[in-house]
Amino acid sequence: SEEQIAAGRKAYELDRAHVFHSWSAQGSLDPMTVLDAEGSWIWDGDGNKLLDLTGQLVFTNAGHKHPKIVAAIKEQAEKLPTIAPQHVNEARSEAARLITGLVHEKLNHVFFTNGGADANEHAVRMARLHTGKRKVLSAYRSYHGGTQLAVNLTGDPRRIANDDDAGVTHFFPAYTYRSHFRPADAQEWTEAQEAERALAHLRDVIQLEGPAQIAALILEAIPGTAGIYVPPVDYIKGARELCDEFGLVLIMDEVMAGFGRSGKWFAHQHFGVEPDLVTFAKGVNSGYVPLGGVIISDEIYASFTDRVYPGGLTYSGHPLAAAAAVATINAMTEESMVENAARIGEEIIGPGLEKIKANHASVGDVRGVGAFWAIELVRDKATREPLAPYGQTPPIMNELVSAAKAKGVLPFMNMTRLHLCPPLNVTEDEIRFGLEVLDEVLTLADEHIGA
Ligand code: PLP
Repeated sequence: SEEQIAAGRKAYELDRAHVFHSWSAQGSLDPMTVLDAEGSWIWDGDGNKLLDLTGQLVFTNAGHKHPKIVAAIKEQAEKLPTIAPQHVNEARSEAARLITGLVHEKLNHVFFTNGGADANEHAVRMARLHTGKRKVLSAYRSYHGGTQLAVNLTGDPRRIANDDDAGVTHFFPAYTYRSHFRPADAQEWTEAQEAERALAHLRDVIQLEGPAQIAALILEAIPGTAGIYVPPVDYIKGARELCDEFGLVLIMDEVMAGFGRSGKWFAHQHFGVEPDLVTFAKGVNSGYVPLGGVIISDEIYASFTDRVYPGGLTYSGHPLAAAAAVATINAMTEESMVENAARIGEEIIGPGLEKIKANHASVGDVRGVGAFWAIELVRDKATREPLAPYGQTPPIMNELVSAAKAKGVLPFMNMTRLHLCPPLNVTEDEIRFGLEVLDEVLTLADEHIGA
């Protein structure tokens, strides 16, 4: 309505006058206003309706304004809107029961945080105290959060400006499309070869850093922001075996890939491994109220039965956030959202993206699973030369997003990739529309590379 649009304009003015934005040079910003959102759709500041393929920052797993989650938050607000973390509250107890019921049987306790970065901070703290060791291994091409240790764990350019002596060593993960291991003269390069070489590298890193110094290995089972590159099954299995061999805690960062995003409750479940610590946030309650946490193995839990855990948060297990988590998990189960994501990914998004790849000279790789997909753009399909050097976002990427928006679709953009992360309950018609629009606008990328 005109009234909403006027209110949005006022909010925009105030934003530019007073709000300091994440990861941005403040002077050149022109943020999009969102007036409303429902299901798979959002309305921008001019009232245009857009199919939301971003999941915002990949967190609206149950879609926007899901009535069961909204009702649970309202109900909890009337019953007990807040309480300090040392007190038992019903919402938190039930959220912990539900969450531990979704993972393997040796993970039975949850430490709740406010989001994903602090979940990773606490997971590392637990691993360090449990093992009495300090170093942590983490992958390049990863994202683990914006707080000080979490950004040091991160393996993308955002770490570099924040780097300090955090005790983190980075290694090259398995990434078959842009392998760090493939010899230049290799005719072909299989997932099995990639897994084998990447594991040999990881073993070398562990040995050269000294297993007696390393507390933990942290990994996204399916790296998200860094490009949704699904690793070979043997790579993740092999990483688990190396952790066992050398006494490292395996932390799986499921902040983005977890809670159904990959078509299973947790991404590591595609690989048949049992992590020692699982960190989560985002999809746990579709991001309706900030919440994250660490799911803790019985063995690590036992380290703190007699010894004090030196860590805590004012809002650990906040009732509004926990009630939203309970409602989200129940709604996801009742409405078979995880199964829907798996099916839509396999039957519609995967084949649809393969067609897009075949149609466009600029599309080098398409990959993903469930409701978690990436399109990687290149200058040359044969050589895989990226559309821009690593770390850069060329102007054509913004042009692609603008063109998609003009046709009613909002994709997620990172460097030279477009990501498709719809809600898990997206319908077939909605996702077909999204794919159609992306197919049309990618012609601009083909023209850009002169194809
Ligand atoms: N870990 C992963 C894999 C993420 O994708 C993110 C956020 O994008 C984080 C951690 C950080 O979570 P938060 O922003 O809630 O602190």
